Amino acid sequence: MTDTTVSGSVAICTHCGAANRVAAGKALSAGKCGKCGEPLATQKPADITGDMLNRLIAKDTGAFVLDVWAPWCGPCRSMAPAYAAAAERYADHVRFFKLNSDQNQDAAGKLGIRGIPTLIAWENGALLTKQAGAQTGDGLNRWIQSTFRLSA
Ligand SMILES: [Zn+2]
Repeated sequence: MTDTTVSGSVAICTHCGAANRVAAGKALSAGKCGKCGEPLATQKPADITGDMLNRLIAKDTGAFVLDVWAPWCGPCRSMAPAYAAAAERYADHVRFFKLNSDQNQDAAGKLGIRGIPTLIAWENGALLTKQAGAQTGDGLNRWIQSTFRLSA
């Protein structure tokens, strides 16, 4: 159950799986995992497994994006630099993850992925939106800003 009596959000550390509380309005980049000490912010997109994704979906109440991709996918590779730039740009507000759909076929299947790349956004423990297809830098920035209500 999500604790709605305490402000802020829960960020699952994707290194060790520990649940960390992030105070409302606090920049993610100021926080480290209380268990393993790794930063909670993703200055670079972080690769996660299907199991870790399940844990994020079940427990994490912060803002995060998942890029479902595969190494053989040209459009995925062409979007990767823009996705990495967005991870750095929005690191204080949104966490950026990548799921290799070849190595995590069950997880990709459960997400209902029909084509890659697909971006999926979650916040407050709910799926916000899914976006199929590669996006350029400007388009990706606009999508992130509108999805998470961030200023430009
Ligand atoms: Zn940790």
